[in-house]
Amino acid sequence: MAFNLSLDRRGFLKALAATAGAGALPALARATDDGAGGQWQNWSGNQSARPRNLAYPATEDALRQLLAATTGTVRAFGGSHSFSGVVPTDDTLVSLEAMAGLRGRDGDVLHFGAGTRIAQAGDQAWAEGHGLINEPDINLQSLAGAIATSTHGTGLGLPSLSAQVAGLTLLDMAGRRHRLTAADGERFDAARCSVGALGLVTEVSLRTVPAYRLEEYTWTLPLDEAMDFVEREKDNFRNIEFFAFPLGGTAIIKTMTPTERQDDNLAQDDSNDLLEMVCELAMRAGWLTATLQKLVTFFVEENRRWGPAHKIYANRRTVRFNEMEYTVPAERGIECLRKVCDTLREQDLNVFFPIEFRYVAADDSLLSMFSGRAGASLSVHQYYKQDHRPVFAAVEPLLRACQGRPHWGKLHSLGARELRALYPRFDDFQAIRRELDPRGRLLNAHLKRLFVDGAPA
Ligand SMILES: Cc1cc2nc3c(=O)[nH]c(=O)nc-3n(C[C@H](O)[C@H](O)[C@H](O)COP(=O)(O)OP(=O)(O)OC[C@H]3O[C@@H](n4cnc5c(N)ncnc54)[C@H](O)[C@@H]3O)c2cc1C
Repeated sequence: MAFNLSLDRRGFLKALAATAGAGALPALARATDDGAGGQWQNWSGNQSARPRNLAYPATEDALRQLLAATTGTVRAFGGSHSFSGVVPTDDTLVSLEAMAGLRGRDGDVLHFGAGTRIAQAGDQAWAEGHGLINEPDINLQSLAGAIATSTHGTGLGLPSLSAQVAGLTLLDMAGRRHRLTAADGERFDAARCSVGALGLVTEVSLRTVPAYRLEEYTWTLPLDEAMDFVEREKDNFRNIEFFAFPLGGTAIIKTMTPTERQDDNLAQDDSNDLLEMVCELAMRAGWLTATLQKLVTFFVEENRRWGPAHKIYANRRTVRFNEMEYTVPAERGIECLRKVCDTLREQDLNVFFPIEFRYVAADDSLLSMFSGRAGASLSVHQYYKQDHRPVFAAVEPLLRACQGRPHWGKLHSLGARELRALYPRFDDFQAIRRELDPRGRLLNAHLKRLFVDGAPA
């Protein structure tokens, strides 16, 4: 979401925020070694751990030795950008940050170290004359972390990152190396979106396309018109999404289309400071939230940017929030969004952050949210200083009633029983998981809830 503001409008909003005492930007969380093990925190700050071992192995051999030398739970982390408890353990936390970068190329398939961030993958692919098929709206995630949760961008014809995987290398909990491709059938389909439950991924090979450029166009519409527009036009744009502000009845629409223009225009007004101020204001003066959402059409200016695709996809997000996202069948997306917006209005829930609405193509991995069906993803956010539970508790039943599947990296309340009902091949995944991790070393508390029947919620 970008607020492209003129200086006058910016000044006006700053003055308004000053009256509510808006604070400065908080520092983002990271993993640190404090000599007695380590400390880890995710991006939004809602997950943390004090692991006995915090390891950064640089080779597969070093990783294998680590697995042999430690007991207890092992979890990997990448960019630490997940909101759900998929990472934390107080036993062993592993980063493959030292295994990053482009390792080689076979035709249009590029082989990357699993710790490579999407930003680096995009840059290195571009230098080789390639581009990722689609990308999410930030690029700080690692490739292994992003595919573990089926991280996605938007576009009805474009699949998630898990479905862009041509092959991957995984060390199982016995230290055995598995190089998996489509030829490995179900194991490959399980490993492409595994929530990190099958082993530690050391290499990710991505199918790419010839390098391409995109033009992004952003503008606002009244919310009802935006819903009609996106439903009508979803097949006509390579990438289309919108941000719904239900209390204000407004929306920001964003489309991306391929362009041949070579004169890059990448300038993007950094409006994070402003967003932070608006969030602080809305938090302190909830009665203003609907008005602030209405003002979105006043503050957000129509804007076009163009350049290399990987430079256009990514946004800079420094205003922290917590997030719930469910993917419903694509054809039910707008119907479901209407219900969510109605409920937020009826219950008068104080949330300034908009609902992000995106489309994603179907794939055939076992546990991707898009497995077997194209999806509409609805992401509900709450500013990190506000309690997200009332908002998420209000919308989760609606998202579930529309056959929604939760994003593995975002907050939700489901356990093994509910997930089995959502994924026809859930038990096939479980069989592979037990084979590769028979002692359940990869199961932290959150993964137990996901994969062990009857585990506490
Ligand atoms: C600001 C922000 C914007 C976001 N935008 C999007 C978006 O546009 N689209 C979207 O779909 N999601 C989005 N997300 C969610 C995010 O993409 C996912 O949660 C993603 O999984 C995070 O990747 P990561 O590298 O940070 O992994 P982490 O959060 O560190 O880990 C995620 C999972 O991957 C596992 N893992 C990590 N490395 C390995 C490894 N080497 N081997 C095995 N398992 C491993 C972890 O154990 C964990 O289960 C966003 C999140 C934030 C905070």
